[in-house]
Amino acid sequence: MTQSAAVAQEAPAVNQPILHVENLQKAYHGQEVLKSVDFEIRKGQVKAVLGPSGSGKSTMLRLMALLEPSDGGSIKLRGETIGTKEHRGRTVHLPERLLARQRQDIGMVFQKFNLFPHLPAVRNVMLGLTSVKGVSHHEARELAMEMLQRVGLENRAEHYPSELSGGQQQRVAIARALVLNPSVMLFDEPTSALDPELVGEVLDVMENLAADGMTMIVVTHEVRFASRVASEVSLFDGGVIVEQAAPDQFFNNPKHERTKRFLSHVH
Ligand code: ADP
Ligand code: MG
Repeated sequence: MTQSAAVAQEAPAVNQPILHVENLQKAYHGQEVLKSVDFEIRKGQVKAVLGPSGSGKSTMLRLMALLEPSDGGSIKLRGETIGTKEHRGRTVHLPERLLARQRQDIGMVFQKFNLFPHLPAVRNVMLGLTSVKGVSHHEARELAMEMLQRVGLENRAEHYPSELSGGQQQRVAIARALVLNPSVMLFDEPTSALDPELVGEVLDVMENLAADGMTMIVVTHEVRFASRVASEVSLFDGGVIVEQAAPDQFFNNPKHERTKRFLSHVH
């Protein structure tokens, strides 16, 4: 194969979105929460998602993370459909065993940390490695310590969640997601449950991750973080992405009336 042919073959894979959702739909009790969501993110991009409370942002992330089944549409991770498959001309949801495997490639960080209270920080970080990936205890501990170091908590490894501040707990939760080496990290309002003075340390960790090239989708109300770190900002409302643009354009020159109104309510 000539060199140019090799490049031509590789080019689509490099350009291919890491995560790509099309026409994603979800209703609860007949109430449409996601009407038709189209969203994609490429390697190393950071996408910030803003939007009013109750508009479906968490639902969108939970579906992308395969924590809940969609009602329609598709989710592709690195070009491969996840969560569902075609069977006799119909789309069916995959069994839990396969979902669990696919989930490992998608890191999720929740507003409320969701750490196990009876396990020290390092054990919380190790758990996915030992229980899901079958990594040995010894190796899992080493990897977990590396991740705790990355979020600045190597000296809190043996502390239980109740002995850590909210900011520290959230950094442990980030380490727990990172240790599985996911292709993309989803953050659902990661600083909304924190006292104001603890928000900065979590945003700093996320900014470092972004600088290291992590692909990230961040649902947040932190406008300054979004404008500084995001490659693109979206407004989510009424079950759809209303507007999507580079931060400068999004914040200083939004196109949609809905975005202007939303931005006039956030400082
Ligand atoms: P956001 O994260 O933007 O605040 P959510 O995705 O949490 O919005 O919720 C969107 C809508 O879907 C809300 O009206 C909420 O009450 C509803 N909803 C979310 N999850 C569920 C659920 N598991 N069961 C029923 N309704 C839900
Ligand atoms: Mg939410």
